[in-house]
Amino acid sequence: SKSLIWFRRDLRLADNAALLEACNHTDVVYGVFVFDSTILTQLPRDDARLGFIHHAVGELKQALQARGGDLLVLHGDPAVLIPAQAQALGCQTVYANRDYEPYARSRDAQVANSLTAAGSALVLCKDQVIFECDELLTGQNKPYTVFTPYMRAWRKRFHSSLALPYPDTGKAQWHKSGEDLSPMPTLSELGFGEASITPAAKPGREAGLDLLARFTRKLPHYHTLRDFPGEPGVSGLSVHLRFGTVSVREAVSLAISQENEGASCWLNELIWREFYQQLLWHYPQAAHESFKPAYRALQFPGEPHWFEAWCEGRTGYPIVDAAMCQLNQTGYMHNRLRMIVASFLVKDLLIDWRWGEAYFAAKLMDFDLAANNGGWQWAASTGCDAQPYFRIFNPVSQSEKFDPEGKFIRRYLPQLAALDNKSIHAPWLAKQLPLGFVLGQTYPAPIVDHAIQREHALALFGKQS
Ligand code: FAD
Repeated sequence: SKSLIWFRRDLRLADNAALLEACNHTDVVYGVFVFDSTILTQLPRDDARLGFIHHAVGELKQALQARGGDLLVLHGDPAVLIPAQAQALGCQTVYANRDYEPYARSRDAQVANSLTAAGSALVLCKDQVIFECDELLTGQNKPYTVFTPYMRAWRKRFHSSLALPYPDTGKAQWHKSGEDLSPMPTLSELGFGEASITPAAKPGREAGLDLLARFTRKLPHYHTLRDFPGEPGVSGLSVHLRFGTVSVREAVSLAISQENEGASCWLNELIWREFYQQLLWHYPQAAHESFKPAYRALQFPGEPHWFEAWCEGRTGYPIVDAAMCQLNQTGYMHNRLRMIVASFLVKDLLIDWRWGEAYFAAKLMDFDLAANNGGWQWAASTGCDAQPYFRIFNPVSQSEKFDPEGKFIRRYLPQLAALDNKSIHAPWLAKQLPLGFVLGQTYPAPIVDHAIQREHALALFGKQS
């Protein structure tokens, strides 16, 4: 019997649930990856994520060729291409790993319908998370909407066997390469050019595993360093977890291999990832609107040119601007900074959180709908288990607390490098500025006054609460 394994956000051969299923149930396995034209047409031509994916797919193709097989790499609509390929190759079953995003769900439903109509089937496996869909529900059989009880239930149900890698049986007879196989399209054939940024994370499975290995030594200190963007305290693994060049079981295995506060804290972050995945699965409408109904009609009065200043890192608040420069230059932003800039956009600039969410979606290498939407709704106080609307981050005190020596700010805003450790957080309050430094020229004056905007935000959100 023959099957097709359809790789999507699981770009590796090791520890791959769908691959194991395909190998266990069929003799000959064909591999396929589709550059989805629906997704690709929405991306700018210099999108750096394409390079990351292209690299990983190329690696996968080489790995399969080393086993005497190959990977079909196609470009177009998977809802058409996957059933057509399955039929052309005589595959009874298509295996893939489940994706919890609304678009992926409707695409997979279309593929499943076409396959069923042709007498074959789509089998979806759990791979991206430890617990999926309905596996963790409250005592009332409802999805969890608050993190702490979800996290407790996750930890209670978890057993180390769930983090064991799926064995790579190596048993499958891979489809041999031949004339019928399309060669790997180049980035330019896919319509993409050079990336406009230099991503923080190197692409590929080896680079992901290398990051994971190097993080082992940092893990015991994670809880003390994770909030300081100037320190190398976090793993930087998000883009690898996003595209599956590192699996969640590999990450969780590392977390449970150490018994210390850092490891436990890091496991919590991996649980946050699953919390948002299950939330999106149960509440797909949250992708478009406030999770909390009370805030759905909220009209955000912020000025559109404030949004431009925020995007371009010109708000006059150094921690916000440095963070936006990190995003614009590397496609990554530290978690503490994501919280600060999101809060600033919504509560200081009074701009709709969905604008910020969309900007992050366009720029983040690790963009993941569930985590991004969850993070934005948390910061905007519109989400489930969000911070209450009256807790508003003060961008200056956040900066003083989490970047006390301005290490991070200096890295991304060299024009502020000569300011002392106090003034660097709020140059407009400085008693003395370095010679030649002109506020409004060398660096922008603040576009809004935090104290005033805070009152506006309290009034705006208070009306709806
Ligand atoms: P580490 O601190 O090393 O954490 C390990 C892993 O846990 C991460 O790689 C990630 O997979 C997961 N994780 C950590 N924190 C969170 C969290 N709060 N929610 C969900 N998963 C988490 N993360 C994304 O992967 N994609 C996004 O698009 C995204 N958008 C965000 C938007 C906002 C407004 C906020 C506040 C957070 C967002 N996050 C997102 C979560 C978090 O900021 C990143 O996962 C983290 O900064 C990635 O860096 P790291 O890999 O070094 O994380």
